[in-house]
Amino acid sequence: MTDYSKYSFWLETAGETLKPRPALERSTEVDVAILGGGYSGLWTAYYLLRQNPGLSVAVIEKEIAGFGASGRNGGWCSPKFPVTAAMLERRYGRESARSLLEAMFDAVDEVGRVCSDEQIDAHYHKGGYLSLARGEHQLPAIHSTYADYERLGLADRHRVLSKEEARERINVTNLEGAMYTAGCASVHPGRLVRGLARVVERRGGAIYEQTEVISFEGGGTPKLMTRAGEVRARKAIVLAGEAYLTRLAQMHRALMPVYSLIVLTEPLSDAQWSQIGWRNRESVASNRLTVDYLTRTADGRILFGSRGAPYRFGSKITDGQDRHEPTHDRARQAVVEWFPALKGIQFTHAWGGALGMPRDWMPAATFDPATRIAMACGYTGQGVSTTNLAGRVLASLILEKRTELDTLPLAQRRSPSWEIEPFRWLGVRYTQNAFARIDQAAETGRSRPLDAPIADRLGQH
Ligand SMILES: Cc1cc2nc3c(=O)[nH]c(=O)nc-3n(C[C@H](O)[C@H](O)[C@H](O)COP(=O)(O)OP(=O)(O)OC[C@H]3O[C@@H](n4cnc5c(N)ncnc54)[C@H](O)[C@@H]3O)c2cc1C
Repeated sequence: MTDYSKYSFWLETAGETLKPRPALERSTEVDVAILGGGYSGLWTAYYLLRQNPGLSVAVIEKEIAGFGASGRNGGWCSPKFPVTAAMLERRYGRESARSLLEAMFDAVDEVGRVCSDEQIDAHYHKGGYLSLARGEHQLPAIHSTYADYERLGLADRHRVLSKEEARERINVTNLEGAMYTAGCASVHPGRLVRGLARVVERRGGAIYEQTEVISFEGGGTPKLMTRAGEVRARKAIVLAGEAYLTRLAQMHRALMPVYSLIVLTEPLSDAQWSQIGWRNRESVASNRLTVDYLTRTADGRILFGSRGAPYRFGSKITDGQDRHEPTHDRARQAVVEWFPALKGIQFTHAWGGALGMPRDWMPAATFDPATRIAMACGYTGQGVSTTNLAGRVLASLILEKRTELDTLPLAQRRSPSWEIEPFRWLGVRYTQNAFARIDQAAETGRSRPLDAPIADRLGQH
């Protein structure tokens, strides 16, 4: 039997045995059939059942609820959106960009509300987030992001901090300033996803685990096909498998799996915490292109995450890719580089997982009334709160309840497909390598690589 606790610290400490629920045994018919027992699938099931308690909803999960990114992430439940405020404004106009970003703040609060109403002990803590400038070269990113928010009328949600103000919050090396955003929470991802699964069942939803959907079909009675039989749906099927959707032939080029890797320290002593500060447990990141994100866990550890693992040809996803020693090692070194007082600290856990990146970085929550296929995916590493928003959008579209959520830019849209191989591999590997070279040059005081403008264009979002 698979030991699911080994996939992350969060699954290990979810407070339950992770014994799989029964698998699907034969064909069945429901109102809504959902592929995927992560946040997307479960939030959709939750809002469908909350708005229409008589509905029959089945979630079909290949492993166990929370097996994917939902049970492995960095714990940021954040108002950040994968596409920058400036790009949202350029693509959709000021009002739509602003509405979407406001909806993201609401989503953070809504996750907290549901945890409290449904008694999900997900360690929800609203500590805000700090976007740090580590090195003077990262200051322009902070100022231009703040200027974008100002232009959209969202400046009151964010505050630029001087070096001294930032250091009062967290004592890290090379700190030159920060932007603080209060409307961000941190969660225990494993407890959130597993708790949500129990709430869905309590409200009458069925969850079949260790049941793989091998294909799907739209139409008058759309269906999810499994080896044990098919799940026919009277109203809709929902594809909520994020990165793993790429394994289905029809979805192979819709997303690209990107690996994000995490290391976790042992709990720090009070003396160590008093040197570091970080009393409010803000979610923390710097402005590196190669991405880092930090969380102070409820039990006093530091989680350090990073996206350095190389893309694998053909959008491969395997358990083996959850570990990439060079990337995990760099993350361990970075912890000591950020917090020199932690020299010699023990790292107790290392894991990773795949997130789904669309070609234009833009998540989508769509329902096609002709095929009765719904889909929520493409969060590019910002899915803890965005899945909640997507779940509400899908529930309202499937139940045909017109709400203002249907007009948000992530509703009823489709991203362009990724290139075919080997062009996808060549482009992605080149961009990953270029981002690393640009970061290294900035951090060592060298001038930007000659090809930096090309990489900037490729990574624009
Ligand atoms: C390491 C890491 C760190 C991250 N950190 C953060 C963070 O701090 N903050 C943040 O906002 N976001 C973060 N993210 C992203 C966030 O976790 C995801 O966006 C979010 O969890 C997506 O939820 P989901 O339900 O759409 O997908 P998933 O959680 O991946 O769930 C998909 C589920 O579908 C199942 N499935 C797939 N295919 C099939 C099939 N054919 N049949 C049946 N079942 C299937 C899978 O087993 C899986 O359980 C991170 C992601 C990773 C990997």
